[in-house]
Amino acid sequence: IEEASTPYFITEANEIRQLIKPRSRFAHKGNFGHGLLIAGSYGMAGASILAARACLRSGIGLLTVHTPVRNHDIVQTSVPEAMVQNDVHELYFAEPVDLDNFQALAIGPGIGQEEETALATFDQLKECFIPLVLDADALNVFSTHRNYLNRIPKRTILTPHIGELERIIGRCNNSFERLTKAKELSAYLQCYIVLKGAHTVVITPEGNCYFNQTGNPGMATGGSGDVLTGIILALLSQGYSQENACRIAVYVHGLAGDIARNRVGEISLTAGDIIEALPEAWKNIT
Ligand code: AMP
Ligand code: MG
Repeated sequence: IEEASTPYFITEANEIRQLIKPRSRFAHKGNFGHGLLIAGSYGMAGASILAARACLRSGIGLLTVHTPVRNHDIVQTSVPEAMVQNDVHELYFAEPVDLDNFQALAIGPGIGQEEETALATFDQLKECFIPLVLDADALNVFSTHRNYLNRIPKRTILTPHIGELERIIGRCNNSFERLTKAKELSAYLQCYIVLKGAHTVVITPEGNCYFNQTGNPGMATGGSGDVLTGIILALLSQGYSQENACRIAVYVHGLAGDIARNRVGEISLTAGDIIEALPEAWKNIT
């Protein structure tokens, strides 16, 4: 008897293990890409630091963080492995970046909700032909500027939590309605949606849904999502497809969260603990 095929899948450790590309003995940093992270604003440098650290713990070759002037020294000191590029603005993201030398881009963690930042984000989308992740306030801008939604390049990865998703698609009565509407948005934009929550689901433009089982309620804490964005950026920079980058990142992020829970418990768990558990999580699945 043939099983009826449904578009719903539960991601298993073995599948993820098979997706990871081994490193050549002769590899050099150019093989793993140069990623750009547009993140942080005055008072939210932490988001950029968490995303950058997670990215560097996930195999990227080179990382540049684009952040406002006031955050320059903080990021440079906190993440010495990253290069830092100043925005023209003292306090927030205001000027789109030339993407010529980058393999992937993530925008959003801690960028804030200034109108100038929204406009810079929309300008950045216009000239973006590399794999792209939009997170946090880079998603919130569309709730107040819906007409710019169609500027999001096809195959972009959106990483909303439930609140961020509903700001775009409207309030939903239950998780079934939310998933249905998220699938519609994914198909309409031809984008990947990583709908974050207790069981994060990766939705592809073709309508496939991959449910994740790693992770725990200790991860319901500020900065958790920024860590995920950093991991996805690292994988895109290394040339993983959007679908595989999302599925691997979500799995590993949750696994690192579970390792961190074993170390510090759910109550004490912070986003930084997830990053510190990333090495063990990566070792576990490679
Ligand atoms: P954000 O709200 O952007 O900081 O993202 C929170 C991150 O933590 C997402 O990756 C969620 O999937 C994860 N997370 C939050 N709460 C839980 C939970 N109860 N169980 C598993 N993962 C969670
Ligand atoms: Mg977030």
